[in-house]
Amino acid sequence: MMEKLSAKEFDKNLAEVSRKLDNALQKIGKDRKDVILLAATKTVDTETINYALSKGIDYIGENKVQELLSKEDKINPCHRHFIGHLQTNKVKDIINRVEMIHSVDSLKLAREISKQAVKNDKKMEILLEINIGEEDSKWGFDAENIISNIKEIAKLPNVKIRGLMAIPPICEESEENRKYFKKMKKLFVDISDENIDNVDMDILSMGMSDDFDIAVEEGANLIRLGTALFGRRIYNI
Ligand SMILES: *Cc1c(COP(=O)(O)O)cnc(C)c1O
Repeated sequence: MMEKLSAKEFDKNLAEVSRKLDNALQKIGKDRKDVILLAATKTVDTETINYALSKGIDYIGENKVQELLSKEDKINPCHRHFIGHLQTNKVKDIINRVEMIHSVDSLKLAREISKQAVKNDKKMEILLEINIGEEDSKWGFDAENIISNIKEIAKLPNVKIRGLMAIPPICEESEENRKYFKKMKKLFVDISDENIDNVDMDILSMGMSDDFDIAVEEGANLIRLGTALFGRRIYNI
């Protein structure tokens, strides 16, 4: 878990994030309404999460099913997303608890989400996770064959593809990730140009604490921030 964050520290972190974000947006002629700031709340206690919500954060993302379930009753109303690797057998546990799943990384998972969504008579919004750094250790679709996968997933009932998500490789210098963000943006535009039925390419989820400003400059419109808002996690789960 984390040391509990004081309100003052959170305010300071949020002000710094806002400053960096505004700076990046200014460079590309966009403003705050163009980017969703999602708080990645793993290991963060619910009191701190509620404080963040009171300060204008509207979106939160958890990346572990168990943690999401244990916190959900104590969190005030907000947009809740799932952002971590999801095992197919856990889809049923979150199907009614989140608005969007960012981390759809296989056809098998997409099929299970569709099946559970049908069963629960709801529509689930999804982003497809791309393994943009082509790392063996990472989940996600390969950029090369994403179009054929998207066409398959787009046919599934009760799921709606809203865009793409990526976690680029860990690097020393955040500038090193700019090339991956550029690749993601190109892929996003290429898919959009295909005009596939039931596919809206309107959310590009990329950029975390160390590189969100660069991601925004390259076209991210949803950034996922943990450390920059809540401080360093003791256990990096
Ligand atoms: C933890 C996490 C983040 C936020 O990471 P920070 O580097 O702490 O900002 C973003 N996305 C996902 C999927 C995460 O698990």
